[in-house]
Amino acid sequence: MSAMPTIRSREMRVAHDIPISKTLPFWEGLKQGKILATKCKKCGKLHFPPVADCSCLSSDMEWIELSNEATIETFTHVVVRPATFQHEKPYTVAIGRLKEGVRVLAWLTNFKPSEIKVGMKAKLVAKQTPQGQLTYEFTRPE
Ligand SMILES: [Zn+2]
Repeated sequence: MSAMPTIRSREMRVAHDIPISKTLPFWEGLKQGKILATKCKKCGKLHFPPVADCSCLSSDMEWIELSNEATIETFTHVVVRPATFQHEKPYTVAIGRLKEGVRVLAWLTNFKPSEIKVGMKAKLVAKQTPQGQLTYEFTRPE
């Protein structure tokens, strides 16, 4: 069964269960503004976030650059509790489906909450936070 990812928490961790050596191309890609996924050379399955081992038990993976075009499938507006409001604004987390068929869970930015609808297009972009952390998010297409 290939379950659709669900939005459980605000925490966004990427590829946290893979040895760093195997995810290095992913982080290098983000630095260059590319979003990379792993593709199994044996069965052709595309994985995002990247994985080191495929569900078919093969570890023979290649890196593929994903398109930036996503269709939003589901989203949630997260309104932060008043106690932390000074530090955090409300934000939106969404799952978008890319042309390649993989689903990506990421923040959705640069839209007004009233504009956000299931089925709308968004652009997946690599991003560096002011703290220097590499990440990715959905944003408004040009
Ligand atoms: Zn496979």
